[in-house]
Amino acid sequence: MPELEKLQLRNVSHVYVNDHGASLAVDSIDLTIRAGEFVSFVGPSGCGKTTLLHLIAGLLKPARGSVLIDGKPVSEPSTAVGYMLQQDYLFPWRTIRENAELGLKISGRLTKEGAARVHGLLEELELGGTEDRYPHELSGGMRQRVALARTLATEPEMMLLDEPFSALDMHIKLQLEDLVWQTIRRRGQTAILVTHDLAEAAAMSDRVIVLGRNPGHIRLTVESPEQLRSIPPMETRRHADFQAVFERLWSELDHEEQLTSELEERGGQHA
Ligand code: ADP
Ligand code: MG
Repeated sequence: MPELEKLQLRNVSHVYVNDHGASLAVDSIDLTIRAGEFVSFVGPSGCGKTTLLHLIAGLLKPARGSVLIDGKPVSEPSTAVGYMLQQDYLFPWRTIRENAELGLKISGRLTKEGAARVHGLLEELELGGTEDRYPHELSGGMRQRVALARTLATEPEMMLLDEPFSALDMHIKLQLEDLVWQTIRRRGQTAILVTHDLAEAAAMSDRVIVLGRNPGHIRLTVESPEQLRSIPPMETRRHADFQAVFERLWSELDHEEQLTSELEERGGQHA
């Protein structure tokens, strides 16, 4: 049984404490993700998407409940979990090769094999020949591919992607969605994508989790139909069955936004 369950969130709640007091960011989240599954988190700003990724990555500890990877509680960040963000966080004074090798270097695994793997990854991500260049010489899409190479180099079993495409132009974004989807599938990795873009969520994932806020909770889950799961995102977007999945998400999120603004209006100064 535990073999198939890569990630489990059991009744997870998180509270942020600061000068203004304590606030409940996510409440009683129960979620199981199978090994090799691609899941997206969507929902309005502030519903706890990033908080959930931080809890899964071991960057935060839940106030209540537990986070388990391969049946073991997560207690600290580990190279088994790769994290990719909207910003590429490349070091401007390091070459592309050095940037891509950084994850391995930090975890003390920059061996000859590691360096060869980084080289292979850069080739795979169509960055061959850029190794001795610097980040400012590359386009936004290329830089995000370097960040992806750096994340993949440590061979994580799980990939956490927090809006990695949202700063990119539409056509670059579509290409990168395909590339990321393919590299993750090829490696059999488990992935969680956070995105504002419902079409992206529907095109990339096997299952979309719709979150609501105040505090963050799971509203519902939308499964992609079988015939859409095995084809890459660009092809999925063109498939006859895609629109129905998108409409379902759209109506749910629309409803959530309406509810929230109504509550805020009624709440007046208490909101
Ligand atoms: P999302 O990624 O879905 O936009 P977040 O996980 O960033 O949501 O935030 C969830 C909730 O927790 C929000 O109400 C946000 O204001 C609050 N929050 C996030 N980070 C902090 C923090 N460091 N301190 C206090 N509150 C925070
Ligand atoms: Mg966020």
